[in-house]
Amino acid sequence: MAQQFDVVILGGGSGGYACALRASQLGMTVALIEKDKLGGTCLHRGCIPTKALLHSAEVADNTRESTSFGVQATLQGIDMPAVNKYRDSVVGRLYKGLQGLVKSRDVTYVEGTGVLTAPNTVTVGDEQYTGRTVVLATGSHPRTLPGLEIGGRIMTSDQALQLDWVPQSVIVLGGGVIGVEFASVWRSFGSDVRIVEALPRLVPSEDEAASKALERAFRKRKIAFSTGVRLASATQDEHQVTVTLEDGTSHSADLLLVAVGRGPTTEGMGFAENGVSLDRGWVTVDGHLQTSVPGVYAVGDIVPGLQLAHRGFAQGIYVAEHLAGLEPAPLDEAGIPRVTYCEPEVASVGLTETQAREKYGDDAVTAYEYNLGGNGKSQILGTAGFIKLVQQKDGPVVGIHMVGSRMGEQIGEAELIYNWEATPQDVASLLHAHPTQNEALGEAHLALAGKPLHAHS
Ligand SMILES: Cc1cc2nc3c(=O)[nH]c(=O)nc-3n(C[C@H](O)[C@H](O)[C@H](O)COP(=O)(O)OP(=O)(O)OC[C@H]3O[C@@H](n4cnc5c(N)ncnc54)[C@H](O)[C@@H]3O)c2cc1C
Repeated sequence: MAQQFDVVILGGGSGGYACALRASQLGMTVALIEKDKLGGTCLHRGCIPTKALLHSAEVADNTRESTSFGVQATLQGIDMPAVNKYRDSVVGRLYKGLQGLVKSRDVTYVEGTGVLTAPNTVTVGDEQYTGRTVVLATGSHPRTLPGLEIGGRIMTSDQALQLDWVPQSVIVLGGGVIGVEFASVWRSFGSDVRIVEALPRLVPSEDEAASKALERAFRKRKIAFSTGVRLASATQDEHQVTVTLEDGTSHSADLLLVAVGRGPTTEGMGFAENGVSLDRGWVTVDGHLQTSVPGVYAVGDIVPGLQLAHRGFAQGIYVAEHLAGLEPAPLDEAGIPRVTYCEPEVASVGLTETQAREKYGDDAVTAYEYNLGGNGKSQILGTAGFIKLVQQKDGPVVGIHMVGSRMGEQIGEAELIYNWEATPQDVASLLHAHPTQNEALGEAHLALAGKPLHAHS
């Protein structure tokens, strides 16, 4: 006899558990099915563990550079097991908290591998869970390239996070978010790092100016990179891995991190068999995140678009509210804040300058860059970078792009500016506390509103 619920959710990562929490808050009965650990990629293999490593990396950099701030300290080394212990303690606390939260919200948590056996039913072992609605939230996994086998010295972020030693040298294949974050960590820990990116620039989906600024900063940090060139082959033996690129150059290192993107986890779980339309493995959805099968929804990384935890949260919440008849506002993909947490950080929301020019026309767009050289707090931190605004001429700000240490912390206000369609004049009338890097955001808007303070007209 099947157990009946209002909503049955397959996958307990960011998208799935957010949907479960909101649906139960709205009075629905919910089953949440997870085969591994509640919290999914973000908590156990993604956002949180990598950001803990980046924090250790920042401490290492600060120690190394301490004398330039008048503090006598020496970096004696990186104790990787201790770094991992610190990281695991952060993950462990959050995991415990999340388990408590799900329990307290009366969500029926089911441990096990689920398979969609009918459009309204997920089967786990011998048990059937039937819902008025089923939400698919099975997430994503690291991809590799054809012929490039993962194993030994060739690894993805999953294995890289398990390392208990610091490699002397690393090659990072892929200059996107995950690649540059690992490159940044390892460089701070003392490794020689080379990034290989097939597209012409690092963080290629960001505004070109942001890529240039990051490349400048990485050059200064002695992170080597080859852009616009593809991998031809990779071989490994017991001592090293050697990659050969299509331009004929070859490079050897202790490790090769393959960070070429993540694919949707949608195979072997009965999706296609039950009529759910897939496009190269991704689940296609309508504006309400409903799949091609009425009553079956999909959220998170399996839905084509940005692979971000907060997008998964937002989609999970959206589906719960939609089911409750609350008519939530549709999600604007461009309005999702994006942060790359390497040193320096890259943060953005809205359109790049190129996208804005394509959308509105060349003459209808203005762009302005405020250099962090004019910001007191940036100078105190010793960081370089900028805040770039893209404005629809005489209209709202349609893109904000920031590069600099800790710039990710500024994304909250940037997101409000973009999503509330604020004009430079709207923002120019608001105060920004001195001395913070947040002031730079204010200064950029003051300048675009025609009244620059600490910037040349
Ligand atoms: C190294 C790395 C760093 C990242 N950093 C960031 C960051 O800083 N900020 C950010 O926003 N995003 C980051 N991400 C992306 C973020 O982790 C994902 O976007 C997010 O986890 C997607 O959530 P999801 O719910 O779609 O999938 P997942 O979190 O992958 O969850 C899916 C869950 O479904 C379960 N599952 C799958 N199949 C079944 C089945 N048949 N039965 C039962 N359970 C099943 C899985 O075990 C998993 O727990 C990072 C990712 C990686 C890999």
